[in-house]
Amino acid sequence: MMSDIKEILITEEQIQEKVKEMGEQIARDYRDKNPVLVGVLNGAFVFLADLMRHLDIPCTVDFVSWQSYGKDTSSSGVFRIMKDLETNVESKHVLVVEDIIDTGLTLHYLLDTIRSRKPASVRVAALLDKPSRRRIEAKADYLGFQIPDYFVVGYGLDFAQEYRNLPFIAVLKPEIYAGSDTPPDELE
Ligand code: 5GP
Repeated sequence: MMSDIKEILITEEQIQEKVKEMGEQIARDYRDKNPVLVGVLNGAFVFLADLMRHLDIPCTVDFVSWQSYGKDTSSSGVFRIMKDLETNVESKHVLVVEDIIDTGLTLHYLLDTIRSRKPASVRVAALLDKPSRRRIEAKADYLGFQIPDYFVVGYGLDFAQEYRNLPFIAVLKPEIYAGSDTPPDELE
């Protein structure tokens, strides 16, 4: 697996330090608010698991899974809920936990859906942001790192479902992407 990696963009130590910092900030902001953390599957599960262990406050966790219709996923902007929340979020403080904000479409529509359920508040914690790729307004209230327009893997993020178990964020060698039927642009 290591031989597939071209470059480590963010090391394990950098991630762990940042996630701790984010968790401590969130714990301060949500004291007495009993937030519901909403993890966006599959990519966010590693980040969410680490982040919530830095929250020394009462909180609950739930997950959603979205899939976009059609092949050209990012431009269609039409999403189907594969797994919905099990929690009734009305009057609750919701913190959406995302792995990466790219075009912004996933987050935009997810926030619309959550807001329609009348929560007390909604905020977003994202580990990574690729602002240069944005197609619709979407922003994290708590952000780990801004990165350039690279397709990255590791720390929950996959390429063709692999590499999620890497403890750092990395870019793969071009021949790995080239050898796939599904180029990264179509995997959003
Ligand atoms: P958006 O709707 O903002 O374009 O896309 C967000 C989703 O696309 C992320 O939750 C993630 O699943 C996927 N994605 C976007 N950029 C990357 C990337 O660089 N690497 C991986 N593995 N997934 C990405």
